[in-house]
Amino acid sequence: SDVGSQKERVVTEEEWLQKWEMGNIGFHLEQGHPLFKKYLDVLLNGRSGLRIFFPLCGKAVEMKWLADMGHSVVGVEVSEQAVKQFFSEHSLPYCEEPVPEISGAKMFQSTSGNISLYCCSIYDLSSSIVGKFDGVWDRGALVAVNPCDRQRYASLMINLVEKNSSYLLITVSYDPNKYKGPPFYVPESEIKSLFG
Ligand code: SAH
Repeated sequence: SDVGSQKERVVTEEEWLQKWEMGNIGFHLEQGHPLFKKYLDVLLNGRSGLRIFFPLCGKAVEMKWLADMGHSVVGVEVSEQAVKQFFSEHSLPYCEEPVPEISGAKMFQSTSGNISLYCCSIYDLSSSIVGKFDGVWDRGALVAVNPCDRQRYASLMINLVEKNSSYLLITVSYDPNKYKGPPFYVPESEIKSLFG
């Protein structure tokens, strides 16, 4: 497929912050994503007490659901507004602290301790800072990453997962000449070459 029209497109962090400021967040799903419930068993695979990572998390409600099931959730999101809205919309008390390894970054943690949201760019993270994960929920994440950053994103994600982990990835299929994205069109062949 021809993805040439999207290859050069860049959405800056500033533009994402602006979307949150303007309330231009059509990607947010109040009721969660239907495929979450459908594939939850694949993600968990009968295991309990998992560490689940939400890249580019926004205020995804699935984070609350997994925490309520007893898992521990880590997310990363550039917009502080999004992070604060997540905690306030679920009436979760939280504390806020700097991240010594990342200048300017903050970590927001639910008082119960099972949800930690890093407010910084995902490219600032590494497994030495956040550890490794048993599961990943990638919805609106790979498809929101700028096409030029996909390789870097995928390498980072591979580094952040344990050997026996599950990675749920949602992409969208459409004609990239008809819409500029995000979400960007990521062909299946590219997913295979990114993640092996
Ligand atoms: N996964 C969420 C949000 C999808 S929209 C959901 O399913 O609702 C993509 C989100 O990524 C936006 O909230 C945007 O602010 C954030 N974002 C964009 N670039 C980022 C980056 N480099 N690091 C961390 N977050 C980023």
